[in-house]
Amino acid sequence: MFNWKTKGEKEKLEDQVRDLKAQVDDLEVNLIHDHLTGLKTRAFFEEEISVYLEIIDQQAETGQHAASQRKERFGFRNLSIIFFDIDHFKKINDEYGHDVGDMVLKKVASVIQSSLRTGDTVARWGGEEIIVSLLGADERDATAKAEEIRQMVGSLIFANMPELTITISAGVASSERGVKVIELEKRADKALYKAKQSGRNQVVMYSELSSASA
Ligand code: GH3
Ligand code: MG
Ligand code: MG
Repeated sequence: MFNWKTKGEKEKLEDQVRDLKAQVDDLEVNLIHDHLTGLKTRAFFEEEISVYLEIIDQQAETGQHAASQRKERFGFRNLSIIFFDIDHFKKINDEYGHDVGDMVLKKVASVIQSSLRTGDTVARWGGEEIIVSLLGADERDATAKAEEIRQMVGSLIFANMPELTITISAGVASSERGVKVIELEKRADKALYKAKQSGRNQVVMYSELSSASA
């Protein structure tokens, strides 16, 4: 048994342990959640999606899809990702100020989050870029979802700023055998780039790109 010199010393040490534990808990929360939007972090997203992609590949290889379907969450044959980016966000910051920019970003994040199903993951990928994974969705399903979200964001109205309208662009890509999360993100980003080039406020599928098979 440890002999404490004084009762005060023991209590002091217990306080320090409690503080340290709270700090570790905070660190864990910050590793997983983005401070501003409350969405998941990019690191968490990439970790989670790479696990899903591995499981999907394994299932395809072992032909265990039907059996694992009964285990629900991991019974998916595919997944798709959507890369969203707010259009002309710099202009919103410049015209309305950074605080309004932050508020807009939080609102867009919440619209996206609330339109998804349990099991789908939403993360803040970068500044005003939000990435989503949809389990079991093929490219067309994901495009329909992205389109629905694009329309919802486009019809947002902000108190005291009736003239402020927000649009977003999106790129969609779906899992294929052996394709890792980084490659999938690159594909969705290429589709997003095309959406921007084509005038913004639209959704583009990776498979639509002429260089998709190259
Ligand atoms: P585009 O339509 O091509 O996407 O134009 P854009 O102005 O949105 O493009 P860009 O990605 O160059 O600019 C993003 C801006 O987002 C730049 C940066 O100042 C701003 N931004 C990034 N993170 C935050 C944030 O957390 N809060 C606010 N208010 N602004 C942010
Ligand atoms: Mg932008
Ligand atoms: Mg951007």
